[in-house]
Amino acid sequence: MAIEKRVRDRTPAKALTPTPPRQLSEKEALNMLVRFATVDLDKVRPGEYLDLVDDVRRYLNVEGPGRVADALKRAETDRQELRAAIDVARGLVETIADRRSGEWQHKAGMIRVDASGARPVTYQSVSLEDAILMVGADDLDEAATERIGRCRRCKQVFLGQKGQMFCGRKCANAETARRYREKHPARRRAQAKRYYKGKIQKKHGPNVKVENRGARSTDTPE
Ligand SMILES: [Zn+2]
Repeated sequence: MAIEKRVRDRTPAKALTPTPPRQLSEKEALNMLVRFATVDLDKVRPGEYLDLVDDVRRYLNVEGPGRVADALKRAETDRQELRAAIDVARGLVETIADRRSGEWQHKAGMIRVDASGARPVTYQSVSLEDAILMVGADDLDEAATERIGRCRRCKQVFLGQKGQMFCGRKCANAETARRYREKHPARRRAQAKRYYKGKIQKKHGPNVKVENRGARSTDTPE
């Protein structure tokens, strides 16, 4: 089924017009899907939240009235309306990130085929969650799977490059530093001592006697 047919809402007959394919690049669509999957609905600020609802609308290519459009309208004032759909996105993306398998039961919807016009069009009436499930599952192809991972350090799900192990530079650098400390515990302690001594001398002058303050809990154990 072509993208434009997948989640078209059932709409009153007079409002039925073939919609153009989704106005999103694959990259944009994937970015949105991963954002839905990682968003914390309880922490999103009101303005950001409305943008999120708009993104869901764009992601699903919702046009005209219908079941999904109604749910998204309600979601603008009630975050609970979006929660189930966000949970579906999270489930899909995390399953991919962790290279697991998962199953989702979709509920009964309605499919309407209309061949009375110039070209046959298929319409679907499904819930918001099922819409996310269908479009999301379709977007998570092989190429997408290679780019979705879970950060080995902070465990956050991310969209990156093929083979990427960390969500970003911060976690990658922190991991490099940790491995270095693990490999060179003595050097790390000497470095910490020098740093501490320098700090004390800067404060109290070069002749101050610097005591060894002992190992800190963050130091690698001996
Ligand atoms: Zn990370």
